[in-house]
Amino acid sequence: MKKIKHKINKLRKAILKYDYFYHTLDQPIVSDAEYDYLLNQLYNLELKHKQFITFDSPTQKVGANVLNKFKKVAHFFPMLSLENTFDLNGYLKFENRIQKKCIINSTINFCCELKIDGVAVSLIYEEGNLIRAATRGDGFFGENITENVKTIKSIPLKLNGFNIPKRLEIRGEVFMLKSDFFELNTQSDTGKKKFFSNPRNAASGSLRQIDSKITAQRKLMFFCHGFNFFKEIDIFKTHYDVLMQLKSWGIPVNKETLICSNHLEILNYYRKCEKNRASFDFDIDGIVIKLNSLDLQKKIGCNSKSPRWAIAFKFFSKEAITKLYDVKFEVGRTGIITPVAYFNPVYISGVLIKKASLYNHSEINRLNLHFNDYIVIKRSGDVIPKVISVIIKKRSENAKKVFFPIYCPVCNSELFSNKEEKIIRCLSGLICDAQKKKLFYHFFSKNALDANGLGPKVIDKLIQKKFVLNLIDFFYLKKEQIKNLSNIGEKKSVKIIETIVKSKKTTMNRFIYSLGIFSVGEMISQKLSNYFICLDNFINASRKELQSIDGIGKVVANNIFNYFSISENRKLVDKLIEILDIIPYHDTSCKKNNIFNKNIVITGKFKEFSRIKLKQILTTLGARISNKISKKTDLLIFGKKFGSKFFEANKLNIKMISEEELNSLIKKER
Ligand code: NAD
Repeated sequence: MKKIKHKINKLRKAILKYDYFYHTLDQPIVSDAEYDYLLNQLYNLELKHKQFITFDSPTQKVGANVLNKFKKVAHFFPMLSLENTFDLNGYLKFENRIQKKCIINSTINFCCELKIDGVAVSLIYEEGNLIRAATRGDGFFGENITENVKTIKSIPLKLNGFNIPKRLEIRGEVFMLKSDFFELNTQSDTGKKKFFSNPRNAASGSLRQIDSKITAQRKLMFFCHGFNFFKEIDIFKTHYDVLMQLKSWGIPVNKETLICSNHLEILNYYRKCEKNRASFDFDIDGIVIKLNSLDLQKKIGCNSKSPRWAIAFKFFSKEAITKLYDVKFEVGRTGIITPVAYFNPVYISGVLIKKASLYNHSEINRLNLHFNDYIVIKRSGDVIPKVISVIIKKRSENAKKVFFPIYCPVCNSELFSNKEEKIIRCLSGLICDAQKKKLFYHFFSKNALDANGLGPKVIDKLIQKKFVLNLIDFFYLKKEQIKNLSNIGEKKSVKIIETIVKSKKTTMNRFIYSLGIFSVGEMISQKLSNYFICLDNFINASRKELQSIDGIGKVVANNIFNYFSISENRKLVDKLIEILDIIPYHDTSCKKNNIFNKNIVITGKFKEFSRIKLKQILTTLGARISNKISKKTDLLIFGKKFGSKFFEANKLNIKMISEEELNSLIKKER
């Protein structure tokens, strides 16, 4: 028993501390999921050991104490919290309870609303004029924030319409639009303003300002979800009717509110809201289901913490707090260094997350990240995990700051920062093992040479065994070498060799893409092959010519030009052209001609054509232009002042034609 009491006290202490940070300071230090988990533990323990329940236990209380900087005001009606559930079973228990208590024959209707993730406020109107606004506080006493609330444009200072009661309390949620929150935090980036971890904290912090001018600048909004009449009014029968009446007096009510009469309709509404959650420009964390009949609400009543006639059906949290234990700087295929945060695994929306990209050095600066920091993780767009913020209050005194490295973590060469693209890169290319490995993956990937079966796992093993030091080595691999790798049998090794042979036949656009030139993706590769028609023209293109191509900007043109300025890259490409069977871009309508599919080499100067023009004409007719004479060469075209290629071709008995002969051939084929 002593142990249980100790556990209860420990839980209470922790929860009260978290309440203070969340409600009073607007700076939560644990995630909502963690908080809810602890509170639930406490509930269950107290339920089993009722003798330990005290009136000041967090399970019996609402919110937290009010801040001294505001005048304390007493609520006319207690401002309670809501019972909540995360699953249909929890909701069904609530519905059963209601049905048992109501004992009526007719259908019971429920008013379903969005659960806006904001700050609860009470607004008192007298003779239709807003005379007082207060926060929820501890449910009995709140903070007087009248002047601040008066700056919120969607809250009318005066109600308009007929039959407005002499005195009326309106309750609702003050919140900040996600877009306004984003803008506010972008301004905060400059260091002038406080950084808020989410729109709820931003709304709460903005609402509880001593200077109402600051509140006025923060673009807060309001939706009403509750009310209290000071005198019995029997013209309204339902919660929904009152909301509609308030709307007609000028009070904002969310348009997604819906009447449902059974759990299937409610589940549909829940699913629809969860699906649309990302498309709303305000945060919601669930739906709220309320008994619609005001008479039944009164009959059922409230407990010390929440009304018995309403329940929040919450969505699973999209955020979690965890501890960062490392930041690794990963080197990408094109040398870009990407910092990746590794943290204690956490479940977010049912998925276990262990790491998140930190994108670039400015993101590390924005977060002011230190090792062992407690960080808030979110699955942005419900998929990609992102580090949202750091809980500075939980940082240990001697925590070491995370710095971006100066040297490549893999090859140790100096890193360069590109201000235009906000990135830091290792420029060592294939000398850097990390880049080399990723280029291998990319070269044989589906949209490049498409060597199905030669994936990263096999490539890693080949590298480990030192069977491949460069791309060319792959084309000379022997079946026995592949069989030598763990978990690869005879059948699979034959298949891999076949796949490599098959991958040799490719198209010009795939080949350009496979080289993995920085920022040359599939679309750009297609554009380049459409424009240059033959590889030779592409490889030798000037910066100016590259930039003149529609859709190729300065950065891409520079990247291509720089790539071919490196002699290692040129040698590699030349060798690949020799090994591979690259089909140039050509007009497929002219397949039946003497040039189609022929390997042609050009030497000398021509009267009627520039070299580039001639290459373009030939490749349009389906020829493959090569720089070197080999046994594969079908034809040599020679102009004036021809070079050594003429003699090499002669030696190999390769057919040769002059410019005049070429002219008649082209005319015939065209
Ligand atoms: P709650 O936020 O779960 O629900 C009650 C509140 O919902 C009401 O006060 C009201 O303001 C609001 N609400 C929004 N839309 C509504 C609607 N349509 N109808 C009625 N009310 C609506 O409960 P709470 O007591 O405000 O806060 C408890 C929750 O806050 C916890 O479950 C936890 O998720 C979070 N919390 C987190 C920490 C932390 O450290 N992370 C600490 C304390 C509380």
